[in-house]
Amino acid sequence: MTHSATIIVIEDEAQIRRFLRTTLVAEGYQVFEAETGKQGLTEAATRKPDLIVLDLGLPDMDGVQVVKGIRAWSSVPIVILSARAQECDKISALDAGADDYLVKPFGVGELLARIRVALRHVMSTTNGDEEGVFAVDELKVDMVHRKVTVGGAEVHLTPIEYRLLTVLVKHAGKVLTHQLLLKEVWGPNYVERAHYLRIYMGTLRHKLEKDPARPRFLLTEVGVGYRLAVV
Ligand code: CA
Repeated sequence: MTHSATIIVIEDEAQIRRFLRTTLVAEGYQVFEAETGKQGLTEAATRKPDLIVLDLGLPDMDGVQVVKGIRAWSSVPIVILSARAQECDKISALDAGADDYLVKPFGVGELLARIRVALRHVMSTTNGDEEGVFAVDELKVDMVHRKVTVGGAEVHLTPIEYRLLTVLVKHAGKVLTHQLLLKEVWGPNYVERAHYLRIYMGTLRHKLEKDPARPRFLLTEVGVGYRLAVV
């Protein structure tokens, strides 16, 4: 498999940077490095990368500020690496516009899988095979005809269930925080009603998943939010 995707690694620890470079180059990616947030922002603006791997703990600025800086002009996928396992840190990075989040120490396989998902998401939103149709495994969501099928059988969803599913489809592969989902589906006055989300995610899983207790499509990111599987 050949991929010429360009990745910028923004990380101040030389050892981790070296490890990331070796790993990513071996996979065929083109890699550029930055040691500080400022350098990272400059690299991101000049290299026009396909993806950015970003450490949150940088010497000159907080990684969340870097995310915000990049999001001001670009929708390039951003995968966060961080030593902070706190849920509030994950949430602030995701709410700032990061696509995904890995806590150090992380496995190489996991990192590469997340990178592939983030890159694939960009491809699928720009040139999908079938216009307006999202498909993963048995699940198919036809946004044009508002039709949802599992293994070819149509599934009937309530308007709220359908809206929740389409928000997940629009950001497939990406971790969406509870707050973002509540705002998108119910509106800005509902961001505190986490129980709405829990209830509707439960009914969606019962309708779409073979085993709702061990979901295949609608994945939980504990304490943070949900993600729709893309592979
Ligand atoms: Ca660091």
